[in-house]
Amino acid sequence: MTLPQVVLRPKRARPFYGRHPWVYPGAVASVQGDPADGAEVDLMSHEGQFVARGLYNSRSKLRVRLYSWDSAQSLDRAFFQERLSAAIRLRRDLLKLPQAGSACRLVFSESDGLSGLTVDQYDRWLVVQFTSLALHQRRDLLVELLVELLQPDGIVLRTERGIGQLEGLELQDGLLSGSVPAAPVIIEEAGLRFLVHLTEGQKTGFYLDQRDNRQAVARYAGGRRVLDAFCYTGGFGLAASRAGAREVVGVDVSEPALALARQNAELNGISTASFIRADGFDYLDSQVRAGERFGLIVLDPPKFARTQHAVQEALQGHARIQGLALRLLEPDGILATCCCSGLIDMPMLEDVLAQQAAAVQRDVQILERRGQAPDHPVAVSCLETSYLKCLICRVR
Ligand code: SAH
Repeated sequence: MTLPQVVLRPKRARPFYGRHPWVYPGAVASVQGDPADGAEVDLMSHEGQFVARGLYNSRSKLRVRLYSWDSAQSLDRAFFQERLSAAIRLRRDLLKLPQAGSACRLVFSESDGLSGLTVDQYDRWLVVQFTSLALHQRRDLLVELLVELLQPDGIVLRTERGIGQLEGLELQDGLLSGSVPAAPVIIEEAGLRFLVHLTEGQKTGFYLDQRDNRQAVARYAGGRRVLDAFCYTGGFGLAASRAGAREVVGVDVSEPALALARQNAELNGISTASFIRADGFDYLDSQVRAGERFGLIVLDPPKFARTQHAVQEALQGHARIQGLALRLLEPDGILATCCCSGLIDMPMLEDVLAQQAAAVQRDVQILERRGQAPDHPVAVSCLETSYLKCLICRVR
């Protein structure tokens, strides 16, 4: 069977021979065979050579997402089963992550050769996100395969804001299979228990990508007064408490997140942590004015940068909170500054920090340069999958 073909312009095939999975309209010379949105297509060089097989969407800037570089491979049930199995094997056999009562990311889109699908496991439930129209069209198949491979108690669909517009895809959050508990699910991470709202929380409920960074930061927390800025449900702060922090203050704008943070403290018998509703910028500023001091500060703000134009604005945001945090830290204090925007890379974040350190005349030493937890792997063919940065520093 011959598939519709998307023919590249001359000299535009190189990234795709390098297995980059995103074909933008600017690289496309012509589309032949009138593929429907979501249909399988062959990506061809301008000389008529097969390059890769992918799924087409005329409504997306990712005109074709590529999945296979083998012309004999159909993007059929067996293909998706193999990709899902490989993704699950990484977490289960190599990383030893999905255990009863815990949580991890099982499928991470391009990082697992499945552009447009993310699957997180929370104890016996799965939370699925579709970020491509084509994989959403194959939703029943993918859910069936997940049930077959994992036998979860339930599968919930969560949608990232803005995806409808990007992909021409209207999604309604809801149950895809089985059932989900009305109450929050409890997951365990490094000996702490956390409540997670599968149907209402941010992201798919918990920031799984920061798992290892929470532990790394906690190792410095003993005896210190800790400020967990942008704390969500208390991940960093409670890990610090457990590791012996003297006192923990968590700050976030989201009242539902704070309510869970307080419950999480209680669930773990932690009485040294308090959680305050405030704007992170205002709170840091108010603490500087009040002459407060902290021994360890975590800055884990949301992705300020959503588009290329917002990069400058986002860098300014990071600069502002870093500058305030540097002024709040006692001598030999610890700063953990995180950035989850893929548009800002590590050198950019370090550069901002260097400028802030100079401005407040503090010596800052980077102790650890960290990224996302390994259940969010980085595909070398798509370095855009590397997005999370966490610098742990000593501030003299
Ligand atoms: N550190 C957390 C994840 C933080 S995600 C963890 O380990 O789980 C970023 C958080 O910033 C979200 O909880 C969001 O509610 C919060 N947030 C967004 N804008 C904010 C602002 N202006 N001030 C304070 N918190 C904000």
